Amino acid sequence: MTSTLELIVFSGLIGVIIGSFLNVIILRVPKNENISLPASHCMTCQKPLKWYHNIPIFSWILLGGKCAFCKEKISIQYIIIEFLTACMFISIALRIDSVSEAFIYSILFSMLLALSVIDLKYKAVPDCISIPTLFVSFLVGDFFNSFSSALFLIGGFTLLRFVVSWIIKKDAMGEADIIIAGIIGATVGVELGLIAIYISALMALIVFFILSKKEYELPFIPFLAFGLYITWIFSEQATNLIRIIYE
Ligand SMILES: [Zn+2]
Repeated sequence: MTSTLELIVFSGLIGVIIGSFLNVIILRVPKNENISLPASHCMTCQKPLKWYHNIPIFSWILLGGKCAFCKEKISIQYIIIEFLTACMFISIALRIDSVSEAFIYSILFSMLLALSVIDLKYKAVPDCISIPTLFVSFLVGDFFNSFSSALFLIGGFTLLRFVVSWIIKKDAMGEADIIIAGIIGATVGVELGLIAIYISALMALIVFFILSKKEYELPFIPFLAFGLYITWIFSEQATNLIRIIYE
C-alpha cells in the first residue's frame, strides 16, 4: 500500500520527466527533426547541454532561465509544460486506482497536451501524433464502445464542419479537430463527449471575445483537450448531472 503523499510525489516526478520529453516532441516533431539526436542543445549558441543543465524545472530555476554558456534566455514554456504534466499525472493517479489504466490515461493526456501546444505554436498539428493519439484513446475502455463513440462524434463533427463551412463560406475547423472529437468520444463516450465539446466551445468563445482580434485564428485543439480533461476528471459529477436532466 502506498500513501497518498507517496503517490503524489511519485506521479509528479514521472510527470516532470515526461513533460521534459514532451518539450522535445513539441520542439522537434513539427520541424521533422529526430527526437533523440542531436542531444539537447541551446537554441541560440547550439552548445550541447550538460546533464545538470537538463534536470526538469530545477535546472531552469538554478540557471535563472538563461543558457549556461551564452546567457541567452530560455523560454519559460519548458517549465510550464513540465509543471502542467506533473499536475496532470498527479490528478490521474489520484482519480484512477489501477496502475495500468492510469498509465494509458497518462499517455493519452500527455499526447493531447503536446498536440495543444503544437497547435498554439504552429496552427497545425502533425498526423504522426494525432492519429496515434486516437488509437491510444481506443484502449482506455471497452474497445468496441470506444470505437463506436469515436465514430459517432467524428461523423457529427464532420457534418457540423460541412454545414458551418457552407454558412460562413470558408473552411471551419481543421481535420485535426475532427480527430480530437473522435478521441473525446472514445475517452468519455458520446454523452459526456458532447458536454466536453460544449465546454470547449464556450471557453473558446470567451477567449475569442477577450482577445477580440478578428484576424487571429484561434486554435481549437487546446480548448477541446482541456474540455475533455475537465469532463473526464469530473465525469462522475457530469454523469449525475445528465441523469438529473433526463429524469
Ligand atoms: Zn546558449
